[in-house]
Amino acid sequence: MIPRHVEIVGAGFAGLTAACALAQRGWSVRVHERAERLRTTGAGIYVYENGLRVLEAVGAYECAVAGAPMAHTREVRDDRNRVIAVHRWTGSRVFSIVRQNVINALAAAAVAAGTEIVTGSIATEASAAGELALADGRRLRADLIVGADGSNSCVRDSLGLLVKRKHLVDGCTRLLMDKTPEERSGADDGKTIETRTIEYWSGTRRVLYTPCSETEIYIALTMLHRDEAAKAVPVRKDTWKRAFPHLEPLIDRIGEQGRYDRFELIKLRRWWAGRVAIIGDAAHALPPNIGQGGGCAMMNALSLAVHLDRERDVAAALAAWERQERPITDHTQRISVLLGLPTTWPPPLRAFALAHAGRSKWLTRQRTRTALHRPIGT
Ligand SMILES: Cc1cc2nc3c(=O)[nH]c(=O)nc-3n(C[C@H](O)[C@H](O)[C@H](O)COP(=O)(O)OP(=O)(O)OC[C@H]3O[C@@H](n4cnc5c(N)ncnc54)[C@H](O)[C@@H]3O)c2cc1C
Repeated sequence: MIPRHVEIVGAGFAGLTAACALAQRGWSVRVHERAERLRTTGAGIYVYENGLRVLEAVGAYECAVAGAPMAHTREVRDDRNRVIAVHRWTGSRVFSIVRQNVINALAAAAVAAGTEIVTGSIATEASAAGELALADGRRLRADLIVGADGSNSCVRDSLGLLVKRKHLVDGCTRLLMDKTPEERSGADDGKTIETRTIEYWSGTRRVLYTPCSETEIYIALTMLHRDEAAKAVPVRKDTWKRAFPHLEPLIDRIGEQGRYDRFELIKLRRWWAGRVAIIGDAAHALPPNIGQGGGCAMMNALSLAVHLDRERDVAAALAAWERQERPITDHTQRISVLLGLPTTWPPPLRAFALAHAGRSKWLTRQRTRTALHRPIGT
């Protein structure tokens, strides 16, 4: 039988996971990535049990987590460096990983399954009938088009699927820095290591400190979008040191690099149209307050392949896929937005809320539901 063919736009978490899963199920797969190299931005990433299961299912797990620590303990500290809450993640895995390692692992698994990845290839639009237009003028026909082209998705927008795109009040600059010899000590025993991440608050600004490999620390500086001094890149160390005097040695280690992104929320009328499926941030971008944007992207990408395997009619498979996956993704978006609300609260109220949030069984259940969800195909 001639294999069915898919053209995927975007080689991020969503596009590469879909490529692996479809190629492993006998599809002929081509991925178009507009960048000249498969390079991800955003420094580090937390991948929870749900995302790790997907990485295992597509054969990218070992390579993705090599050298990454388990990030089971997170401390929250106030502007005077006092611990106001400690969250311990028990009973399931969570790794903090250098993003590029996950992309490399997924790309290697996709290519091993027969995927063709074309870099420097820019998509411009898609039609529900299954035609993809490229910036070089070519028009490609396929049994399936996958729009995995991130929050500014041109594939999604050419089909008019967007119903809500809300820019949130806050954003974040992410960067990596080298570990000091002290930070490296004990991290190189060749076994899985555990690490402690620390979230420091001062007013509406936050510094998240996360060891994410044997040699690197992932730093996320979060601030209000209107806080021009705080969101400047290269990072203005003077302004951050004024907000976090006790972190001066750490802030001094920040180099010239860094990338600022405003948080946003995206909702679609439908995740598909005819022969086109929209996945990842293109379909459901969310603020990173529970670290699940990448996790949902990978779950939904794998599930897409499973549904297309079960049901040969593409439109019927896509409808079943959305019915299955949308509730947990909608929940993840809701809880992520909810957990971002304390950013603008007065510090004493926020400290009270953060200290008590971990004790609420209801809130813990809501917060951990996505991570503990068992993805289809795993
Ligand atoms: C501050 C911050 C922290 C985060 N932390 C976490 C975390 O800890 N854990 C987690 O799971 N998630 C996290 N996320 C969310 C996560 O980064 C995203 O959900 C994830 O990257 C989405 O992957 P994607 O493949 O859908 O999109 P993207 O990563 O945006 O990939 C899209 C790809 O498509 C390509 N592309 C775009 N347009 C075109 C075109 N026209 N033609 C060809 N190629 C194109 C792009 O170059 C890119 O490679 C965080 C997000 C932010 C902002």
